[in-house]
Amino acid sequence: MGILQLQNSPLTSSARTAYRSVRAAYRKVRAIRNRFLNFVESPIVILIYHRVANLSADPEMLSVSRENFYRHMLFLKQHFRILRFEEEWFGLKEPAVVVTFDDGYADNVLDALPVLEEVGVPATFFVSSGHVGTEKEFWWHQLEGILLREGEFPARFQLDDARYGRVWDTASLERRKALYASLNMAMREIPPARRDSWLDQLGKWADRRHGGKDFHRSMTKEEVKRLAASPWATVGAHTVTHSALSSLTEEQQRKEIFTSKKDLENITGTEITTFSYPFGRKRDYDRTSVRLCREAGFIKAAANFPGQVHRWTDPFQLPRHLVRNWDLETFAAELKSFWTR
Ligand SMILES: [Zn+2]
Repeated sequence: MGILQLQNSPLTSSARTAYRSVRAAYRKVRAIRNRFLNFVESPIVILIYHRVANLSADPEMLSVSRENFYRHMLFLKQHFRILRFEEEWFGLKEPAVVVTFDDGYADNVLDALPVLEEVGVPATFFVSSGHVGTEKEFWWHQLEGILLREGEFPARFQLDDARYGRVWDTASLERRKALYASLNMAMREIPPARRDSWLDQLGKWADRRHGGKDFHRSMTKEEVKRLAASPWATVGAHTVTHSALSSLTEEQQRKEIFTSKKDLENITGTEITTFSYPFGRKRDYDRTSVRLCREAGFIKAAANFPGQVHRWTDPFQLPRHLVRNWDLETFAAELKSFWTR
């Protein structure tokens, strides 16, 4: 925790320099350790994508263009053994890659799946079941649609909330970007009902709920079925409401984990055996989440922090590497660094 606390406190420039060199030293040690471990056993690198789409704005930088995605898949196919997330994957002679998607956006079926089928790359898609078949965008898109657009806004926004309530200056787009960033962070830490109340307050304040140029639709039930029916795709669960599990009570966590599995099983008619934690950093889930995932009958669960996978890696906290909208050259270079990161 020491390093993280440092990162959050106000730093003098010398402390910042010291922090950077500690981080750099840590990375070096980790790279040496990982090289050694890779020598003991061939590593597996799990990639995480969210969207394949050409968006007009992408503040979370989670979308990869269709052109780049095609190039990524072709590169993987030509250079690596590609495994399925759900299969037994140890005892390999060479390094291998696994492709996964989180959230369940419609573009996964409409734009990513045809590429996977054409190139012949299997992928697992973790879907938040509460958004399937609804017109409701994920809360971060609602937030984006309200705040990150041009137009007339009141000069101030007052959030009514026992813990986070305060007043923000919202007179300029720059100020609204700052509000977006702080609410985006805070909204990860609160349960869904409270988040909806914040969005209601914002919607009334701005006099509209949506305003983004893109409509960020989740899959319909038919699209989830189509995905599950493809020999190149597997459907996994990703909770119902896409909330950070660590912010919920045990009962709420149980509902999110068990219901998402059941919902997707009802839609696809197949057993759902894998799961990924929303947001997926170590602070976004806890020991209860891991225990409940085992109890629900999942065989593996994916997190969202870098690291490679070995026989000794916890199958319920599998690290993954986030892929950005990289051109082929950058993708190849990043992928190379993943083997020691
Ligand atoms: Zn997610």
